[in-house]
Amino acid sequence: MTRAISLHDVSKSYTRGTRVVDRLTLDIEPGEFLVLLGPSGCGKSTVLRMIAGLEEIDEGELLLDGEWANDLLPADRRIAMVFQNFALYPSMTSRDNIGFPLRIEAPGEDPRTRVDATARMLGIEDLLDRFPAQLSGGERQRVAMGRAIARHPSAFLMDEPLSNLDAKLRNHLRAEISGLTRKLGVTTVYVTHDQAEAMSLGDRVAVLRGGVLQQVGTPRSVYSLPRNVFVAAFIGIPRINLLRGVVRAPLDGAMTISLGKQYLRLPEPLCLDHQLLRVQQGREVIVGLRSEAVRIAKPAGARPGEVHITGLVEHVEFQGHEVLVHFNTGSRPAVVPDLEAPRPAPPVRRRRRDSGSVLERLRNRAGALRAGPVVALEHPADDAHDPAPPEGRLPGDLIVRTTPDFDLRHGMHVPLLVDLAHLFVFDQHGDRICPAPARLPDLEE
Ligand code: ADP
Repeated sequence: MTRAISLHDVSKSYTRGTRVVDRLTLDIEPGEFLVLLGPSGCGKSTVLRMIAGLEEIDEGELLLDGEWANDLLPADRRIAMVFQNFALYPSMTSRDNIGFPLRIEAPGEDPRTRVDATARMLGIEDLLDRFPAQLSGGERQRVAMGRAIARHPSAFLMDEPLSNLDAKLRNHLRAEISGLTRKLGVTTVYVTHDQAEAMSLGDRVAVLRGGVLQQVGTPRSVYSLPRNVFVAAFIGIPRINLLRGVVRAPLDGAMTISLGKQYLRLPEPLCLDHQLLRVQQGREVIVGLRSEAVRIAKPAGARPGEVHITGLVEHVEFQGHEVLVHFNTGSRPAVVPDLEAPRPAPPVRRRRRDSGSVLERLRNRAGALRAGPVVALEHPADDAHDPAPPEGRLPGDLIVRTTPDFDLRHGMHVPLLVDLAHLFVFDQHGDRICPAPARLPDLEE
């Protein structure tokens, strides 16, 4: 049996006045693999613990298969948890570790058959007589998985189960978990701060920030239509390029988005999405360009919908099958304060002229922890911009992914073509305005 898990307007506070989970609504289908994704401290584990019954729900309701379950005892939920620290009993063999919950649940029954079947499924038959100290990290995590599986739970809750393992093993076990849970068809809620893990595992991904759900959707939809700057920047490697721009929509000329020293000229006739930008005339916006939305090519080679800019090569990251080129295009990057995994730190740090007072930085940090607007563009972008990058970033403002064929070196000026079909524009608060939200508000409401 597998279960539907629903959270309706669920909130949780540990200290008065601070909600670590804020009015969360999520409906998880039976058999679905849902990933809760977000930076450390955004409330993911708290959500998981509330589903498991290990944490009380302050407000809202939890439904298991449509039945009110806020007060159901953890043991009555038939839900198994897998943690990152494996949580095995050191004095028990793998066999006893796997069989232990079965003995508790059905004291009179011999767990041997179920333990053996589970061990076969996980390929750990040879490890059954070993103690945890005699197992590698990956083997211990398999035994921990075995303990969860042997109970034949109706749902799995997994809290960063692979984060203590090395990268190679993590990839391997990730594929195993995905295969196993699908084979068993058991509803799984999986917590991670690793977007690559979320994207490769989830049927759907729910992105949390400061306890507030930002977006839930298939990996493809959250990547291709992020609802706001936070989701856009949290998902995707390398991180999306976010540039501060100003919409210029003169009555008698072409509409452009000014990006500091250069601009993107929107092709005529304007498509519907670009027409919607007209109301932003004169306002500052954030332009989002994924690394694959820009290519290195001369203006003469432009395809319909591509516009030309130039970039100065600042840094070339060779990655074997591809190269990431960091360009300076003379624009100012927009900073999303509460993101983990910022772009890699530069080899040489430069001081930003307006890096801000301690108070300002604290204010930014506080803003990040609240689930208010994702970004706040406090200082209007002037076209005579400050070329110094924010601290901790490479000097380039635009990362372009390309093949290793180009011989690019620091200091070269390179022609670039931007594919406007892949242009994102976000407003001052970080909400996406282009492409337009898929569902327009119901005018009859
Ligand atoms: P995540 O899993 O996303 O890293 P958590 O759900 O563990 O986040 O924590 C969310 C917030 O709640 C954090 O700020 C954390 O410090 C706080 N928190 C978690 N558990 C407790 C607790 N038992 N008492 C007080 N604060 C807690």
